[in-house]
Amino acid sequence: MPTDTLRVAVAGAGAAGTLAAARLLDTAARTGRRTVVDLVDPAPHTGRGLAYGTDDPRHLLNVPAGRMSARPDAAGDFVRWLSARTGHEADPGAYVPRALFGDYLAADLDRSAAAARDAATVRRHHDRVLAVEQLPDGVRLRLRTGATLDADAVILALGNLEPATAWLPPGLARSPRFVADPWRPGALADIPADQDVLLVGTGLTMCDTARTLAAPGRTVHAVSRHGLLPQPHAAPGAAAAPPARPGGRSPLTAPHDLTGLKRLVRHRAALHRRLHGDWRPAVDELRPHIPLLWQQLPPSDRQRFLATELREWEVHRHRLPPATDRALTAARQSGLLTVRAAEVTGADTADDGRTVTVRLSDGRSLTVGAVVNCTGTESRVGQLADPLVRGLLASGTAAPGPHGLGFDTASDGRLLAAGGRPAAPVWTLGQLRRGNLWETTAIPEIRVQAGELATRILTRTPAPAPV
Ligand SMILES: Cc1cc2nc3c(=O)[nH]c(=O)nc-3n(C[C@H](O)[C@H](O)[C@H](O)COP(=O)(O)OP(=O)(O)OC[C@H]3O[C@@H](n4cnc5c(N)ncnc54)[C@H](O)[C@@H]3O)c2cc1C
Repeated sequence: MPTDTLRVAVAGAGAAGTLAAARLLDTAARTGRRTVVDLVDPAPHTGRGLAYGTDDPRHLLNVPAGRMSARPDAAGDFVRWLSARTGHEADPGAYVPRALFGDYLAADLDRSAAAARDAATVRRHHDRVLAVEQLPDGVRLRLRTGATLDADAVILALGNLEPATAWLPPGLARSPRFVADPWRPGALADIPADQDVLLVGTGLTMCDTARTLAAPGRTVHAVSRHGLLPQPHAAPGAAAAPPARPGGRSPLTAPHDLTGLKRLVRHRAALHRRLHGDWRPAVDELRPHIPLLWQQLPPSDRQRFLATELREWEVHRHRLPPATDRALTAARQSGLLTVRAAEVTGADTADDGRTVTVRLSDGRSLTVGAVVNCTGTESRVGQLADPLVRGLLASGTAAPGPHGLGFDTASDGRLLAAGGRPAAPVWTLGQLRRGNLWETTAIPEIRVQAGELATRILTRTPAPAPV
């Protein structure tokens, strides 16, 4: 490797890591900067990660294909790829199976690698990063196999780390009938077809899990504290939010406290209902401004939002594809799926280990073949057992973000140490920036962050010193 080659390591080859690697290669090709990208993830696939790793064709993207381009400046790119893949013209308004999107991201990386081959290469390592250590002129990654990788800069694209389990009552955590992570490959495979199931959580993960499990001969029960289901997307052809300019002047970007913000959202929803017959554009038009609105909220109001308003916001913001909504409505009408507001207060596993009896706060008790954790992933880094995250916090390379959510990051995504200063050439994107940005977990935000990180790292990281 020539001594002036920049080495960038990317931990995580889900959507965020794959997009970051592709944009690094594009930027290297554009600038002529010699670059090697080491993309590390134990997963067999590249691009799929947790979100696009499911092979169930009923698990759909919750964004229409026309808005899922990997490249912010090439709007129809995913639709063109889909058309080429299937041999017929794809519909930009369709909600397609998520696995296809993972394959598209892998193809996008391959395309960037081919275009950049004179300047840059990507090396895929099927391994897990256990630690990132600082060196005088960069960092060293320690991998699970015992190998090490030295790099001038690192991007942590760790995504959805561990399932949230803070709600677990005694008696359930160690039960053989408890499924901690429904997205683990094969996690649902050995639930007997004739046994009922309890899903804890009623968000998008529950909706997908219910689609997989609901079948004649079995009742799927779903509970959450609020019992609220995600709202469906509007039918095709309905009103869309007017295009918004992030950072542009707009009445939506003025500072508000939480009460003012709620008033604003209600006012805009009423306005859009009157103009277009639909409240959804009010949520969509806010989306590009959410990082700014979040940062402008007083910390006590952000805390209050997390404690009292979060679910109400999430069921309107994270919506269901229409086909999923129709399938769940039919399952509820036929009694295959029940949805209630209740908490799990206790659980006892039968002596033969085949069933678990769960007590609920509404006084019911259910005997089921499995309890599946659909409460989503843990965003509070201080709660995670992951050795890489714990090591970064313990060494002071990283500090928790506002409200403990994700890592604290500078405006360019660089990790900030406890004193608010960067300690190492380590950046992150997506889910791990939740505390600073709030709206940062989906592709429209991640693809922009990936491009900005690539430009930042390739144009401002000094060339390695000749040896
Ligand atoms: C079920 C689900 C469905 C979603 N659907 C949509 C959608 O339709 N549209 C949309 O825009 N957004 C969707 N999202 C949001 C989603 O989070 C993002 O779109 C995106 O997929 C996140 O990608 P990621 O790479 O950050 O995370 P992940 O998909 O979680 O991938 C992280 C990767 O990092 C790897 N990793 C973790 N730790 C290490 C380590 N120490 N060393 C090496 N590798 C490591 C993991 O193995 C994994 O492959 C969905 C999210 C979920 C959970």
